Amino acid sequence: MFKNILKTPGVFRGRGIASLSALSESHQMLQKTCRDFADNELKPNAAKFDKEHLFPAKQISQMGQMGLMSIVVPEKYGGAGLDYLAYAIAVEEISRGCASAGLVMSIQNSLYFGSLLMSGSEEQIEKFVRPYILEKKIGFFALSEPGNGSDAGAASTLAIAKGDRWVLNGTKAWTTNVYESSAGIVFATTDKGLKHKGISAFIVPRDIPGLSLGKKEDKLGIRASSSCSLIFEDCEIPKENLLGQLGDGFKIAMKNLDAGRIGIASQALGIAQAALEIAVDYSNKRTSFGKPISKIQMIQQKIADMSLRVESARLLTWRAAWLKDNGMSYTKQAAMAKLAASETATFVAHQCIQVLGGMGYVTEMPAERHYRDARITEIYEGTSEIQRLVIAGCVLKEMS
Ligand SMILES: Cc1cc2nc3c(=O)[nH]c(=O)nc-3n(C[C@H](O)[C@H](O)[C@H](O)COP(=O)(O)OP(=O)(O)OC[C@H]3O[C@@H](n4cnc5c(N)ncnc54)[C@H](O)[C@@H]3O)c2cc1C
Repeated sequence: MFKNILKTPGVFRGRGIASLSALSESHQMLQKTCRDFADNELKPNAAKFDKEHLFPAKQISQMGQMGLMSIVVPEKYGGAGLDYLAYAIAVEEISRGCASAGLVMSIQNSLYFGSLLMSGSEEQIEKFVRPYILEKKIGFFALSEPGNGSDAGAASTLAIAKGDRWVLNGTKAWTTNVYESSAGIVFATTDKGLKHKGISAFIVPRDIPGLSLGKKEDKLGIRASSSCSLIFEDCEIPKENLLGQLGDGFKIAMKNLDAGRIGIASQALGIAQAALEIAVDYSNKRTSFGKPISKIQMIQQKIADMSLRVESARLLTWRAAWLKDNGMSYTKQAAMAKLAASETATFVAHQCIQVLGGMGYVTEMPAERHYRDARITEIYEGTSEIQRLVIAGCVLKEMS
C-alpha cells in the first residue's frame, strides 16, 4: 500500500524532516492513513483487547496488508521500503490506537526483520523475511534471560556445535510475540568465558522439538501482546541458522536495539498523545464551579506541560530516525528519544488521570489503560537507567 504512496508523482518531495518543522507530503499521508486506521480499527477495540488479553489478530493482519508490518524492509524483499522516520510516525499513530499493536509492529520491523536484514545471508532472508511478509507471519527477538536483562552480555543460554546442528540449552525470558510467531532471533553463548564476545545470534523456528514456551505473563499493561519464556532443552537447529558470524550476537543485538528504541519511543509517544487528547477533550466538557475545567489555570498548566513534553520527545524521536535514515550515528539520540518519550508517556498518562479526576481511575475511560501501558516503555529495550548510561557514555566520549 505505501509503495503506492511513494510512487505518486511529486509526493516524495522534501524527503526527510528537512527543517524539523514539517513532514514531507508522503510522511503526512502515511500519518493520516495510520491515524484513520487507529481511529476506526484499533481505538474502538483496544479496551476489549486489554481486558480479555486478546491478541489483535485481525488488525495485525490488516496492518500486514497495509505494509506496516514490513515498513522498513526493502521493496526487493517484498517490504514497503520506507525509511525509519516513516516507521516512527506509523508506530506512534498505531500505538495511539492500541499500544500492544504498536509494540508488535515495532519488534517485527526493527528487531526481527532488522536483525535479519543487517546480518542475514540471501538464503536466510529468502526463508525468514520474504515469506513472513507474504504470509503475514510474526517474528520474535529473545535476548533477555531470567538471570540477566540489562546485563545482556551475561547470557547463559548455551549453544554447542554438534555435527551439522547447533544444540541450544537454557531459558530466555519475557519474549514478546512468541505465542503468535513462526520464528525468531535467539541470542546464546558458545563460550561463557568470552562474555559478550561469546554470544551469537541464531534463527530459531518456533515449532521445533526441544523448545517449549512458558506461561503467558500476566502483565500490568500492553495486555493485548503476549510475553513468555522460551525453554530450550537439547533443542537442535540447523548449522545454517547461525545469523552473521560466530560471536557477532552482542553486536547484532545492540545495533538493532538502537533502532528498536526509536520504535519504543514512538510507541510511548502514541500513548502520551492519546492521553493528552483525552485530557483536553474532557477538560472542555467537564464543568466545575460553573465553568469548564479547561478555563482553570491549574488545569491549563497541566495541559501545557503535557503538550510541551510530547512535542519535545517527538522532535528527539524524529531526529534519531532522521540520523539513522541519513547513515549517521544515532545511538545517543535513540537513547535520548527513548528516555524522553517513555518518561513523557508516564508523566502525561499520570496527569491525564488527574485532569479526569475519578473518571480517570475507572475502566469506563481509557486513561487508566494508557497509564498502565505507559509504564513498560521505561523498562523494555533498555531501562531508563540503561538509557542514561548509554547517553552519558556517548557524551563523555564526545566531550573528553
Ligand atoms: C512486557 C515485557 C516485554 C518484554 N519483551 C522482551 C522481548 O521481546 N525480548 C527481550 O529480549 N526482552 C524483553 N523484555 C525484557 C526487558 O528488556 C527487560 O526486562 C529489561 O531489559 C530489564 O531487565 P531486567 O528485567 O532483568 O531488570 P534488571 O536488569 O535486573 O534491572 C533491575 C533494575 O536495576 C537497574 N539496573 C541494572 N543494571 C544497572 C546498571 N548497570 N546501572 C544502573 N541501573 C541498573 C535497572 O535499570 C532496573 O531498574 C520484556 C520485558 C517485559 C516486562
